[in-house]
Amino acid sequence: MVELKNRIAKLKMFINGEWKDSENKETRPVINPANGEVISHAPEGTIADARAAIYAARKAFDEGVWSGLPAQERASYLFKIADKIDEYADELTHLETMDNGKTLREAGFDVGDAAACFRYYAGLITKPDGYTYHVADPVQAMVVREPVGVCGLIVPWNYPLLMSVWKIAPSLAAGNTIVFKPSEVTPVTPKKLFEIFEEVGLPKGVANMVMGAGPVVGNEIASHPEVDMVSFTGGTKTGKHIMKTAADTMKKVSLELGGKSPNIIFADADFETAVDYALFGIYAGAGQVCSAGSRILVEETIYDQFVARFAERAKQIKVGPGNDPSTEMGPLVSKEHLDKVLRYIELGKQEGATIACGGNRIVSGGLDKGYFVEPTVFVDVKQEMRIVQEEIFGPVVVIQKFKDEKEAIKLANGTVYGLAGGVFTNDGAKGLRVIKKLRSGITWVNSYHPTYNEAPWGGYKQSGIGRSLGTFGLEEFQEIKQININLQVEPIGWFSN
Ligand code: NDP
Repeated sequence: MVELKNRIAKLKMFINGEWKDSENKETRPVINPANGEVISHAPEGTIADARAAIYAARKAFDEGVWSGLPAQERASYLFKIADKIDEYADELTHLETMDNGKTLREAGFDVGDAAACFRYYAGLITKPDGYTYHVADPVQAMVVREPVGVCGLIVPWNYPLLMSVWKIAPSLAAGNTIVFKPSEVTPVTPKKLFEIFEEVGLPKGVANMVMGAGPVVGNEIASHPEVDMVSFTGGTKTGKHIMKTAADTMKKVSLELGGKSPNIIFADADFETAVDYALFGIYAGAGQVCSAGSRILVEETIYDQFVARFAERAKQIKVGPGNDPSTEMGPLVSKEHLDKVLRYIELGKQEGATIACGGNRIVSGGLDKGYFVEPTVFVDVKQEMRIVQEEIFGPVVVIQKFKDEKEAIKLANGTVYGLAGGVFTNDGAKGLRVIKKLRSGITWVNSYHPTYNEAPWGGYKQSGIGRSLGTFGLEEFQEIKQININLQVEPIGWFSN
């Protein structure tokens, strides 16, 4: 552990194949949310640093050092990256827990998924793509896919490694060069990922990483004319700002934003399975998951029984430091975020909702220096309350009651978000009927949360634009070119001569 701490004591950015401090040498502390300790110092990147990274990516793209490689060769780099992630899995897992706070178990899954994501795109990029069309003779029409160019990738702190990989793997597979910005709160595992890129010998300038504040570095990436696309994951408010900023240079934009996702439990569902998944849906990652099932809707005939059992189980969740193997739920990521979640809990009380369990910061049991919050349940809520409408992004759930299928769907769709949603029922037809009415991009029947590299991830409504993962996630990072070849080379004869 001491060795690990020494290794991350001072981070650097990766620009044009070199490790760099920020141009003005400023740094910011990186905090372990389980105990408030400073674990590292990260460069406070500037606009000049962002521009250096953008120019490096531009040059590498224009010279074709990456896009010009056969897909097989790009794929072989990606396979090597996946192997290295496996090789460093233990280190990456511990670093993720130290920086983000998530449990070792959660971090371990993320690391495994990250390696699998690189392998998935390494495989996909060598498969056939494009189309040919039968148009009027003597023309052969076809479509080819090409990289977009320089892609700006901006990610949040809740899955520091995995969210980075969801963007980096497909964008590199497609032949783009990248300027990547991790969250200032969690730059540690992204930095390790870039060490891996160096180790496998990615050509200079292909993958660049700039750290620093979103409104400075992120904004420069979103606005710079030499960046062809911006792919962003984060809050809806920031996403709207990025979309407006990117409009000036007409960049391609892909946005994975927030959610307030419904988890609908019908009376005919397997009760214990529904309770179990509902707990997982909200308290995994301490609720700091974009797809969290933060609104549980329960059919009125089982409502009281459900709330009682759910609260009973929630109280038993073992909250503690992520590096304790017995911990089931870790801290929130930062003091700032802790304060935000606690403010929402206060707001819920002021709005007239009732706390069925939790509702407090945890300071006992040696957790006083960390940012821990009890698994919290609100009941007696109304649809228009802010705790029902707004993303809290913490271990706070509202449990609402519904009469019938129609009301469940109305409540479920009744926010500005449309990221995810679940339905629990033993009636297969009803399950599918309800899912088809949900205005959400990611859905589950009798399950919640599991997702796969093969399947698209993204939201309807104000939860975003575009999709990550699967073939859809690759296409986000590709342009489509129409090619028409005249097979009979003679004048068209449109004008008299
Ligand atoms: P933010 O929107 O605050 O930040 C996300 C990233 O954007 C960070 O790197 C941040 O930089 C950067 N940023 C902030 N302001 C700007 C700006 N003006 N211009 C460019 N970049 C900027 O989100 P959080 O980090 O708080 O993450 C939580 C949010 O992410 C939640 O709403 C969650 O739902 C969403 N999310 C969505 C997912 C999805 O797939 N739909 C997945 C995961 C999370 P910095 O913080 O370093 O200043």
